[in-house]
Amino acid sequence: MSKNQSKLEGKAVEVLLSEEQIRARIAEMGTAITHDYAGKPLKLVGVLKGSFMFMADLARAIDLPLKVDFIGTSSYQGTKSSGVVRITSDLSRPIEGEHVLLVEDIVDTGLTMKYLLENLETRRPDSVKVCALLHKPSRTQVKVPIDYKGFEIPDAFVVGYGLDWDGRLRNLPYIGAVRR
Ligand code: 5GP
Repeated sequence: MSKNQSKLEGKAVEVLLSEEQIRARIAEMGTAITHDYAGKPLKLVGVLKGSFMFMADLARAIDLPLKVDFIGTSSYQGTKSSGVVRITSDLSRPIEGEHVLLVEDIVDTGLTMKYLLENLETRRPDSVKVCALLHKPSRTQVKVPIDYKGFEIPDAFVVGYGLDWDGRLRNLPYIGAVRR
């Protein structure tokens, strides 16, 4: 597997966002979050599994004494969304009275984020906001507020930097588009 192009089952993966582009954008997002949450008890909640790499880099770009937790969801089988969102592993601690920032790899149809926002609101946090590295506006089924957005991308299936293709390619350091 070369650094800039990977192949899976004969399909090419082209670089859509390079490591440098991702790093620079996350630095900007970290600065904005640091400014907005100064003096507030911030908890980053990473949506597993896709956000694990983004979460690690974003947390280091935020200059605040934050806490971290994770919530696991699943709605995808292979490259197709089943549309049914499930929590596969829950938060380890309550979020009552905390300022929660949901950290998501990608908002596609919006169904996962809508489900999570409604679910977390019932747990009485002081606030819940959304930080997504990627957004595919052309695929929206339900509108959700994205308070911090990394990049808007076209309707392509993307892999790498945490995002998988049927469980694989999460460890690519860049974001690639699969040519269908
Ligand atoms: P949504 O519920 O907004 O349709 O999708 C949210 C989840 O679907 C994301 O957290 C991600 O796991 C998965 N997903 C959506 N689009 C893509 C994509 O292009 N590539 C990959 N690997 N996962 C995606």
